[in-house]
Amino acid sequence: MIQKRRARVLGRMGFGLLRSIGQNWLEKQMPSNVEGYVPESAMVVVAHPDDAEFMVAGTVAKWARAGTEVTYVVVTKGDKGSEDPEMTPQRLTEIREAEQRAAGAILGVRNFEFMGYEDGYLEHTLKLRRDITRLVRQYRPEVVMCFDPTNRFFNDYYANHPDHRASGDATVDAVFPSARDRLTFPELLTEGLEPHKVKQLWMGSTQNANVWVDIGDVLAEKRAALLAHPSQLDEGAAEFVVTLARWAAEGQDFEYAESFRRILFDQPRMVPDRE
Ligand SMILES: [Zn+2]
Repeated sequence: MIQKRRARVLGRMGFGLLRSIGQNWLEKQMPSNVEGYVPESAMVVVAHPDDAEFMVAGTVAKWARAGTEVTYVVVTKGDKGSEDPEMTPQRLTEIREAEQRAAGAILGVRNFEFMGYEDGYLEHTLKLRRDITRLVRQYRPEVVMCFDPTNRFFNDYYANHPDHRASGDATVDAVFPSARDRLTFPELLTEGLEPHKVKQLWMGSTQNANVWVDIGDVLAEKRAALLAHPSQLDEGAAEFVVTLARWAAEGQDFEYAESFRRILFDQPRMVPDRE
């Protein structure tokens, strides 16, 4: 590995140095090909029912097919997503939970957690962070997937939903450092939930991708999972997502991709030699 030959390992004290001079270099050295990597377990944390299908369904289908235990965590009830004047928030919550379970079943998702926060009003609070930390410690996933909270706008056509950003922020902070640190949220220890170190964080809906997953062989499952949300999506939306997957694969040697900004917590910290 090039980066191993040219790099030296730093301890904790070197982190500032890493941040200042090594980060961009490291990112350029990261392999984009993650073909063949299959985690034992993965937790997907999203804001709304159907977010996961847009963002990670192809990757989830591939991993679940290969044996990964996948858990979906949906933070809000999605109870504002209707223009029907007859619709009530309670009924919509039930519809959307059932749709999410059906979509996940198509992909091979084994566990579902519906956190019950209100749609549209999500904030990055300590309570939210603690509630996600609780689930991370309970399920102990190898990989956590969530929204990239730094993505405020998509080019010139979309402002990222505040619930997406809040759920992403709280999940990143739950993974690191709250799930890891014994003395953070001591009430979780009282509940019997020991600290847990997540190995990899995969953030989707990002403009800073460093890994691309070839989803060509699971595109049909991704489409089917999207269409399992009929209260929100139709055939046109599913087609649009296929187009997005084609765009995401630009520059790769395959046709359809999901892309992520991946953070690896289980590698030594490195900076390049200066000579
Ligand atoms: Zn959403």
